Amino acid sequence: MLRNCFALSRFEPMEKILNFINGDLLAPISNQFLDNVNPATGEVYSHCPDSDERDVELAYAAAESAFLGWSEMPATDRSKILLKIAKLIEERNDELALAESIDQGKPLWLAKLGEIPRAQSNIHFFATAIEHFASESHAMGNHAINYTLRTPIGVVGCISPWNLPLYLFTWKIAPALAAGNCVVAKPSEITPMTAYLFSKICKDAGLPKGVLNIVHGMGPKVGSALVAHEKITTISFTGGTKTGAEIARIAAPMFKKLSLELGGKNPNIVFADCDFEKTVKESVRASFTNQGEICLCGSRIYVERSIYERFKIAFVEQVAALSVGDPLTDTTKVGAIVSKLHFDKVLSYIELAKEEGGHILTGGKAKLMDGRCANGFFIEPTVIEGLGHLCRTNQEEIFGPVVTLQPFDTEEEVLEMANSTPYGLACTVFTENLTKAHRVSSKVKSGIVWVNCWLLRDLRTPFGGVKQSGVGREGGWEALRFFTETKNVCVKY
Ligand code: NDP
Repeated sequence: MLRNCFALSRFEPMEKILNFINGDLLAPISNQFLDNVNPATGEVYSHCPDSDERDVELAYAAAESAFLGWSEMPATDRSKILLKIAKLIEERNDELALAESIDQGKPLWLAKLGEIPRAQSNIHFFATAIEHFASESHAMGNHAINYTLRTPIGVVGCISPWNLPLYLFTWKIAPALAAGNCVVAKPSEITPMTAYLFSKICKDAGLPKGVLNIVHGMGPKVGSALVAHEKITTISFTGGTKTGAEIARIAAPMFKKLSLELGGKNPNIVFADCDFEKTVKESVRASFTNQGEICLCGSRIYVERSIYERFKIAFVEQVAALSVGDPLTDTTKVGAIVSKLHFDKVLSYIELAKEEGGHILTGGKAKLMDGRCANGFFIEPTVIEGLGHLCRTNQEEIFGPVVTLQPFDTEEEVLEMANSTPYGLACTVFTENLTKAHRVSSKVKSGIVWVNCWLLRDLRTPFGGVKQSGVGREGGWEALRFFTETKNVCVKY
């Protein structure tokens, strides 16, 4: 099995990842590289450029000189190139999925069936959307007309995180490119491999030089150079709330256009009138998919008291049965935690939960592995009960395979608990009562609500959070509007 997987790979072990600037694959100017670790084995398996502001400057210059040609190219022609990129992602699905699994720690089947196909859809979606993108006109009686122009901005910066590396990278760059901008992008230095493979795809698809530039390296060096660059006036960022605040601090006085998709601490509300079996199954999926390292994962599960014990028994039984292990094995449901640093952080939150009086129902510790994964970063899926909703465990983002269970008695009480954190990204509600579903959805403070499902995504819908989960929306027209400059023209006749 493992041999077959590796045979699918087109990248060599210990390969040096390179920046993608002006259509070329380049070492960073410093010629310094960072170790890139496979979280399932704990071993360094490739090297990532440790770029700095000089590489960002080079990338900016390439993007700036490509801008005129790309922005003036008819949308249908841009669309054709992007569709070719989408096609190549589809053809290289297995290679990309393997790279993502090795780099990030997620199960290979999940990367193959979920993440990489979604990266393909992101590009395909915006490649076709741009052909239908239109703007408004407003007639003023019969004496004047306003029309709105939406034009490409110029060179934009896109910064993405490590949890869904290619998926979130393409979610940003696809609308930016489709709208006619040139991009300087920075993937997470923790998971750079698929962005590197993507740069090869762009070359093969004939994307004109300089239209997309990918600079690998550390956030405080490359990311902040992008944010502070005086000619890059638009930044789209997905990552942690603390980093988002730092970006806003630098960008706000420069009056940059900002889209910030930040952290979450999402409530999962289970009413007694839910479809019980489906709810338990979907709640397990919402809690532990991708090791709980999805900003949309539910991490606070509130269950109506009359079914609390029944739910707890069924939920814990299913969680305990999840197989944690080698991401390259087909039966693995929960893979490795992305890095040693994050592994330590998640474990420290489990310790905190115990100190705060939490009772571990299942999991609660690192999972020790044999064989090639003996030094990997694995944590047992963990369910905790007995904590109040205002304790740190229930207020701070853990971003790992850890959830808490709490009973509630009334709709008002659960809404108060659900809305009690500084975050407001997503919420899941399980009930068969339609009126209650609508009422609770309208009162929950979050940018996204799923009723009787989780992570059911239509790329046309607005995506983003409220409070400290972010500013702005991505997806559909929202993304194309963000990546264009708006001008109103009023003509009197
Ligand atoms: P970080 O905020 O640490 O990093 C995100 C990106 O920003 C990385 O590329 C990082 O580089 C870069 N970065 C770090 N510091 C700076 C800086 N000072 N200036 C500019 N860029 C910087 O987030 P994580 O990668 O740890 O991702 C996890 C977080 O992302 C979680 O909080 C999660 O909730 C959130 N997230 C939100 C989503 C949403 O849609 N709302 C979706 C997915 C994740 P480097 O990796 O080199 O540090």
